[in-house]
Amino acid sequence: MNTSMNYNFAFLDEYAKKEVRRSILKAIAIPGYQVPYASREMPMGRGFGTGGLQLTLSLIGVGDTLKVIDQGADDSVNAVNMRHFVEKVCPGIDTTTHTADADLIQSRHRIPELALTEKQIIALQVPYPDALVVVESSEEKRKIMHGEADYSRLLVKLYEDIVKFDEITVSHRYPTRINGHYVIDPSPIPRWDVPKMHMSAALILLGAGREKKIYAVPPYTVAEPLAFEDVVFRVEDFTDRATGERRTCARCGSDCSFLDEFIDSHSGEKIYQCSDTDYCDSQLALRGEDAHG
Ligand SMILES: [Zn+2]
Repeated sequence: MNTSMNYNFAFLDEYAKKEVRRSILKAIAIPGYQVPYASREMPMGRGFGTGGLQLTLSLIGVGDTLKVIDQGADDSVNAVNMRHFVEKVCPGIDTTTHTADADLIQSRHRIPELALTEKQIIALQVPYPDALVVVESSEEKRKIMHGEADYSRLLVKLYEDIVKFDEITVSHRYPTRINGHYVIDPSPIPRWDVPKMHMSAALILLGAGREKKIYAVPPYTVAEPLAFEDVVFRVEDFTDRATGERRTCARCGSDCSFLDEFIDSHSGEKIYQCSDTDYCDSQLALRGEDAHG
């Protein structure tokens, strides 16, 4: 029995998909602006990526290839469940773990290390869409502040960080100004991924299911993390303080990827590995070829 026959293609009804696509077009037309939409009930709890999933389901078509990652990994439970769900409700699509082979990438908390192309779209799952929420609780007031591009209170918040810690300590959800106007919450990607949004060849879509917002960084759009002239934005530093050298991935040896920290269960020592598993596999394959060649 083909259970997928019980559903409309891509689970959502055609009207719902059309509404999401219309919201996406508006989000592209006004870079960084949070477009409200009627977020649908999905067969999983809100807060588990339903915003990203609705973007994916509204855009995917027969013949498209999808990659789903969670924290850079294709094989984490959330990513696997999401991928199986899309496979079930979208007969005729393909899935992949290879970044280069994907037309559409749905992601939680990472942008792949491999530079994306004009032919690709990345849909990020967003828990909190509004960067101003940390300084203003009223949505009405936040809307006015966004409209006037008034981010002075956000800058004060960052300044307080500098006074207290000598640097900006925001590690994830780094407020980023898009196309010189709206400041977005880029979802909980590490600072490492923020520069990848600047002039990205791929369309970047962000979907918050629970908060019912869609926003976008269109291709080749300026994306600037908020900073100060004398305290510039910096990505994570993977220097080993003891040796002064850049830490490398314990698996593939890469010295230029975003690393996750683990505790080795045998030795109790800290080890580092690429967060992007497909990137790590590709580097490992290259090293293998070098060894054989
Ligand atoms: Zn690696």
